[in-house]
Amino acid sequence: MPAPAYSTPEDNRENTAGALPPGMVLGPDGKPCRTCTDWKSWSKIGKSKSKKESKESKESNTTTTTSQTGNTASAAAAAAAAAAVAGAGTGTDGSSSFNYEAECPPDKEILGRATWTFLHTMAAYYPEKPSAMEQSTMKSLLSSFSQFYPCGYCAEHLRQEMKVDPPKVESRKELAWWMCGMHNKVNEMLGKDIFDCNKLDERWRDGPADGRCD
Ligand SMILES: Cc1cc2nc3c(=O)[nH]c(=O)nc-3n(C[C@H](O)[C@H](O)[C@H](O)COP(=O)(O)OP(=O)(O)OC[C@H]3O[C@@H](n4cnc5c(N)ncnc54)[C@H](O)[C@@H]3O)c2cc1C
Repeated sequence: MPAPAYSTPEDNRENTAGALPPGMVLGPDGKPCRTCTDWKSWSKIGKSKSKKESKESKESNTTTTTSQTGNTASAAAAAAAAAAVAGAGTGTDGSSSFNYEAECPPDKEILGRATWTFLHTMAAYYPEKPSAMEQSTMKSLLSSFSQFYPCGYCAEHLRQEMKVDPPKVESRKELAWWMCGMHNKVNEMLGKDIFDCNKLDERWRDGPADGRCD
């Protein structure tokens, strides 16, 4: 069987012997894949690049305006990266409210949260009694989704799970519970809490009974 065209965090731990920061994952183009990597691991690229540039600058001892600008930008980016891990901080432009999620391309975590929000909300509003055409369209959507989800090894896991447990599209409740089960398999694999699927409507459609979301 041919090797997958992307790596996983495990491949990196086992095979690259420190060539990349731990947790860093390569995409099909052989370059670091942001949407397969958590931001903490991703930001280490910026930091090591910044350190390397700084070292090179000291060694050459040339201080042109251009190189100073480049180093300052890299250092600021690294500072912003560190701040972003903490939630907020100084941005690359010196602003005091850098917000990674609002300003930067998504990492694996942000993409995952946004995608689950879309998938569970879509299931929560799926018809109670879908027509044959609606059922077929939903199956196609999920199949296409699992081909194109931009974290390669996440998509591969999903495709494998969907072979064993194909999407249930016969009703809103069946789709929502199937999606909940898929998400719980990922939660389990990642060591996260298992979600109580009885709370699906409260979480994704109606909001809690105390009205705090109304
Ligand atoms: C299809 C898919 C596959 C993924 N595969 C991987 C992978 O292989 N490896 C990896 O590292 N990351 C993977 N991710 C990302 C991962 O699942 C998380 O999205 C990411 O780690 C962020 O987690 P989180 O704790 O913020 O909450 P998330 O897991 O993103 O959950 C968001 C919210 O959904 C609710 N929720 C949690 N579980 C359920 C459930 N079972 N049913 C309904 N609602 C629920 C909770 O309120 C939670 O706050 C995948 C994401 C997707 C969409």
